[in-house]
Amino acid sequence: MAMLISIVVPCYNEEDALPLFKARFDEATAGMDEARFELLLVDDGSRDGTLSLCHRLAGQDARVRVLSLARNSGKEAALLAGLSHARGDLIAVMDADLQDPPELLCTMYDTLRRTGCDCVASRRVTRVGEPPVRSFFARLFYRLMRRLSEVAVEDGVRDFRLMRREMLDAILRLPEKRRFSKGLFAWVGFDVRYLAYENVERVAGVTKWSFWNLLAYAVEGIVSLTTAPLAVPFGFSLLCAAAALVLACCGQGFPALLCLLACLALVSCGIAGAYLARIFWEAKRRPLYVLRRDTPTRRPTDRP
Ligand code: UDP
Ligand code: MG
Repeated sequence: MAMLISIVVPCYNEEDALPLFKARFDEATAGMDEARFELLLVDDGSRDGTLSLCHRLAGQDARVRVLSLARNSGKEAALLAGLSHARGDLIAVMDADLQDPPELLCTMYDTLRRTGCDCVASRRVTRVGEPPVRSFFARLFYRLMRRLSEVAVEDGVRDFRLMRREMLDAILRLPEKRRFSKGLFAWVGFDVRYLAYENVERVAGVTKWSFWNLLAYAVEGIVSLTTAPLAVPFGFSLLCAAAALVLACCGQGFPALLCLLACLALVSCGIAGAYLARIFWEAKRRPLYVLRRDTPTRRPTDRP
């Protein structure tokens, strides 16, 4: 039986882009006749004609499945809904606006089969067409994430990827509610290969992300992957202690006392932060390890 590939596409107000996406998707996958497809369109509470368009596409093509969320819940929630309902042996995630070129699916599929890896993800090597301020902050964000967090989120990495069922199941086993998928994809590990490609601009419609949305997304990314900021008060307490010492040596008793008090207050915050960090990780209820494969081993008594 040919492998089933589920393609999860979150859609929010994509009535202009979706028909173009479907046409390019059909064209790009026409040659992959050794695979079967399930195109999971997740309507994230769109206010335009996206949902009826999804149903129309499902009526024309039996491979299309439609999930519709009761209200706009954001891309992360739409993605989770789609991933939870995907039935494929391989699962792909992609946007509806053709910023994730469907032609790369074929390359991802070949790479996955040729190398035996668990996931082929995409990474933008250029940001042509993106507002420079957005590119600057995006680069800063990835650099900061790599510095602060133990899991490496590659610069320019997209959600667009094709992965094996084992990897998806590991991601779905992470029970946390506030989900930053790029971080979760990185956190579970597995053998991931990256496919570099040039940035492509959205084919139609407008981006749903304002600068402030993106800033909130970046803060979510950092806060969800690392508790390093909770150690900041410790750093400042050292500065205050040094200042207290210098002021005391200069005979400035009262300012030195103030610095000392500030130092004590910051140390207290730091201690509370250390406990908070532990509560934070416990509250996520992530597994301590993720099995890549569970190969059944033969017992000595088993016949070969
Ligand atoms: N999206 C969604 N819910 C939202 C916002 C976006 O499902 O609340 C979808 C959107 O339809 C698209 C993908 O998420 O398929 C990426 O959104 P967009 O292209 O607007 O983001 P950008 O590429 O500008 O980061
Ligand atoms: Mg886009």
